[in-house]
Amino acid sequence: MSDQSRIDYQLKEASQLTNTAWSALVERDAGKWRVVTWYRLTKKFQTSLIKFLGKSEVDSWLCGALSGGQSRSVSLPESSKMNADRLYAFPLKGLSRVVVVGAEQLDSKAGRIWRLAVSGMGDDVTLLHTDSSLASSVAISLLIPDLNSESPYDLPRALDRALMAFIRLVSVQAGWLAVRRGDALEIGAQWNAPSTMDQVLVIDDHALLRRLNRNLTPMSVSRSDVLWSGIPHKGLKSSTKAWICIPLVIGQRLIGALGLWRSSAFKGDEWNRLVDLATQIAPALETLITFAEMAGHLRRLALLNDFAVTVSTGRSLDQIARRMFALLSRAFGTEMIVLDLLSSTDHVLQEYRMDNKGLVSMFRSIDNHPVARLLDSNSKVRLSDLKEPHSLPLYNEALSGVYVPLRFRGRSTGVLSVESKQANAFTSYDESLLVVFASHLASLTDYTNLREEAESRARNLGLIHEVVQQVVGLTNPHEIAELTANLLARYFAFELTAVFIADADGKLTIGGFGGASQNVVKRAMNSIEYPLSGGITGYVFETGQGELVNDVFQDDRYLPVRGWQAGSEISVAIHDGTKVLGIIDVESSSRNAFTQNDFLALESLAGILATVITSADQYQRLQDTIYQLRDTEMELNARIEAQRLAENRLVQAAKLAAVGEMAAAIAHELNNPLTSVTGFAELVMGEIPEESPLRPDMDLVIREARRARDVVRRLLDFARQSESTHAKTSLNKVVEDIIALSRHLIHTNGVELILQLQDDLPWVLMDENQMKQVLLNLVHNALQAMPEGGQMEITTAEAQKVGRDGVMVSVKDNGMGIAVEDQTRIFEPFFTTKADRGGTGLGLSVTYGIVSEHGGEIELISEPGRGSVFRVWLPNRQG
Ligand code: ADP
Repeated sequence: MSDQSRIDYQLKEASQLTNTAWSALVERDAGKWRVVTWYRLTKKFQTSLIKFLGKSEVDSWLCGALSGGQSRSVSLPESSKMNADRLYAFPLKGLSRVVVVGAEQLDSKAGRIWRLAVSGMGDDVTLLHTDSSLASSVAISLLIPDLNSESPYDLPRALDRALMAFIRLVSVQAGWLAVRRGDALEIGAQWNAPSTMDQVLVIDDHALLRRLNRNLTPMSVSRSDVLWSGIPHKGLKSSTKAWICIPLVIGQRLIGALGLWRSSAFKGDEWNRLVDLATQIAPALETLITFAEMAGHLRRLALLNDFAVTVSTGRSLDQIARRMFALLSRAFGTEMIVLDLLSSTDHVLQEYRMDNKGLVSMFRSIDNHPVARLLDSNSKVRLSDLKEPHSLPLYNEALSGVYVPLRFRGRSTGVLSVESKQANAFTSYDESLLVVFASHLASLTDYTNLREEAESRARNLGLIHEVVQQVVGLTNPHEIAELTANLLARYFAFELTAVFIADADGKLTIGGFGGASQNVVKRAMNSIEYPLSGGITGYVFETGQGELVNDVFQDDRYLPVRGWQAGSEISVAIHDGTKVLGIIDVESSSRNAFTQNDFLALESLAGILATVITSADQYQRLQDTIYQLRDTEMELNARIEAQRLAENRLVQAAKLAAVGEMAAAIAHELNNPLTSVTGFAELVMGEIPEESPLRPDMDLVIREARRARDVVRRLLDFARQSESTHAKTSLNKVVEDIIALSRHLIHTNGVELILQLQDDLPWVLMDENQMKQVLLNLVHNALQAMPEGGQMEITTAEAQKVGRDGVMVSVKDNGMGIAVEDQTRIFEPFFTTKADRGGTGLGLSVTYGIVSEHGGEIELISEPGRGSVFRVWLPNRQG
């Protein structure tokens, strides 16, 4: 039967006999307890058991049981979850193995059964002997590699075993075994003195250790001794009376030390055995230490290699941080890692931090940041070295920490912080390794920052280009503001963008908004009076200096808008030389939302927008000039037209003059014969008896001769041969006389007359008879234009023409109107469309002549089929 199965059998037998819940054989190895074999102890209970035994007070309790060789029991706390009320410990012979039993209660009989069972199990016998030959076997056993372990030459485990070997030689209260590292002894194994574990005893700090290092001889000190105060006191008990320290020496060099203490003095043979074992063991320990150091060295080289292979090849800061964190947590067995990188503005730290969700990244203000002060230090800082008051550690549960500033080209670029839940978790080698990492990291982050910055700048410029392409060519400032704000928000995913443009008076009155929060702000802006002033934008508009504010709460200039609270803001001026044309403003509700790159992107956009706005302005001015030119052109055309009309009138006048002269000559020639014809015809008529058949013929002669004389008179009128006398006359009176004459005719023609005569119309100079003739002509023409009847409207009014006062009379009918092609000809003498109805074509030319002679004007508006208006204007000439 093998040892293992024998023990299993005994556990099972004893358990069944004593009715225990479970039992296990546990072993203390390298300062930790492990389960060797068990009976009815589930995996879950095993884990709970190891956790329970790992508590330092339980560890000491079990060590005490081992060193005393006595069984002990302790009640199990509810929380231990091991399905038993009490834990019984039955130590095996030797000093590392104990049978632990979980039970409700063991009576004395059951206790005996267990002690009996345990006595048969025995322990690792190789270490039980105490003579010097066996001391060397201890040394050899230390060097036997543990092939099951991850590190076959595990220094802590070997130290633990070496310490056990010493403790087996003599009975002690407690003790430790320390290894020399530089100027200190580092405690690597302890027995029943957990507080001493990992303690670093600086040799110069302890008088006894100084002596030990100098003399390289063992020392024994008792409590009554004056030297007692010079020994390391940690782990000593109040009952401790004697303390011995045995150096581990190779040649003339102290490589370690053994400290043991108890309540009674050490005897000479005990002393000798210990010294003997120390001498035997020292070379093996030296070998192991060298191995461990080499292994550590190799591990560090491997880490550096890992760093070079994985971290250095990271493409982005995120990736570098992620790989770096994985490497560090593997290397140092801690998740408490923080990397703070200084941003280019020097006021913000980009912080990568491990938390329970994994690696997170955030921007934090440097003010009041726990690592802010460390940025100025040149070398690494340990948590334990810091003087109060300080705000570290970064993680609440951390007991130790190393903080290494990242320095690149003489400038601090950040801090790498590694903390641990364990006290003294970092050896000086760990620290140097962190320093090497930090220096690599500094150059790596700087380079990556530069590259990322360049890339993001290029990306930003690309986006700006897209925005510009769509804005260039716009000429309306409103449109420019709105589109730019929208595109900016879309391409850069900004939360809120605003573009303000100054109007012609140089005031910020034109605004466009973009981004998801634009509606809130637009609404709020309704209650704000334009032009905009004050706030960060107001400041930028006044000074022309752009601003990147990463925490508006710290900026007194910030003016809040109702319903919207910014955390950070960029405001840049759009300027053309020294003239500020507008503002681009971008805001985010979180702090530290913008980078220097965003700021640069907006500045370059502002530069281009300045050109767009200036060209829009120039375009607008050009447009205005074009409008002015067009107006001038129209005015010119009107003048040319007026000129043409004036010329026409001149031609007309010349024609009239020629016709007039001719008519006058003919009239003179005709007047006398016609007077004779009528005179004599009337005489003859007087002679002809009433009933004579000649009378009607004679009557016709007289009538026709009179008509001819009438025509001649008209001709003479037209040729202005007749006398004209001008006197102040009321135009209304002329109209009324004519109406009195024509009322009957108007009525019989079925025409309705509407009279609109302005009261108190000023009197003007005119020849009353000639004016009557003018009106008579116009009224007759109107009546003739309405053979079927209609409406005639005669109006008088005061009227100005080309700045001159005067009066006017208009005669309007709704008759047949005048064909367009005739309209220019009706004033010509002898132009008539009524030749068949006795028209002479002289009426209007006479009228024209009279009006012109009065210095007035006659105007026609006519629409064929709908009617005509003749408007006569006379100047108010003062006699
Ligand atoms: P007459 O009346 O003898 O023809 P006028 O010189 O008075 O000569 O008129 C010239 C022509 O102008 C007329 O033949 C007629 O065609 C046109 N005319 C004048 N007044 C009117 C009017 N009120 N409505 C339509 N045609 C008119």
